[in-house]
Amino acid sequence: MYPDEVVQQALKLSREGWTDREVARRCGVSMGAVQKWRSGTRRHKRGPARGEPYDGRIKRDCPRCYGRSLNSQSYAYLLGVYLGDGHIVATTKGCYRLSLSCCATWPGLIDAAEMAMAAVMPLSRVHRRSRQGSIDVESQSKHWPCLFPQHGPGRKHERKIELANWQKEIVEEYTQELVSGLVHSDGCRSMNRVRRPAAGGDRWYEYPRYFFTNESMDIQGIFKDALDRLGIAWKQANRKNISVARREAVARLDEFVGPKF
Ligand SMILES: [Zn+2]
Repeated sequence: MYPDEVVQQALKLSREGWTDREVARRCGVSMGAVQKWRSGTRRHKRGPARGEPYDGRIKRDCPRCYGRSLNSQSYAYLLGVYLGDGHIVATTKGCYRLSLSCCATWPGLIDAAEMAMAAVMPLSRVHRRSRQGSIDVESQSKHWPCLFPQHGPGRKHERKIELANWQKEIVEEYTQELVSGLVHSDGCRSMNRVRRPAAGGDRWYEYPRYFFTNESMDIQGIFKDALDRLGIAWKQANRKNISVARREAVARLDEFVGPKF
């Protein structure tokens, strides 16, 4: 048993957004202990087991509140898609709907978004809703804002978007997944045609490049930091667009992003 001040210190660090791993290291306790204190397992000893329906409505599968382990790889991808084309809206009785807007032309991407959502919050059912030219992939939970603390009033590019420490730790480990999610929602891979003068007349050249388009400078910053970590060269094409056009940089993105599907 740990002294109460250790427990309180650990809970305080958790509330400040530190990861369980970091809290455990700082307090000199096990990660399991931190998860237990944070999830309040002690207080709910006679309650249902983790991951089971609580009172028919509240489901205890939030990795932030109940210490269930998070599928970090899927989360990094889902975070990328959320930052691109996702939003969270309050529905009824303290519930929230996470909705990812996917272009109907790319069924593979719709499947990928759906799978990531289900992997991150397994007890919440994932729905598809057709809109004009697009499919919204949706899931309801009281806890989506716990997983996306970037949720807030107004549009994403009109407010500050900053990753919490625990999110930074995940995207540092799963940078490729984050980049895939961002490109799949707000990016494209297209052929660029350029004309070059040559002996005997101009010649046309074609080369592939990636474009990432987002209004938010903060989200652009998250994308650029991720590319830097992967050693992929990028250029700010204009205020809203980032381009990856160097041959070796495109080849590197092709390894794990590729064209939309
Ligand atoms: Zn929660």
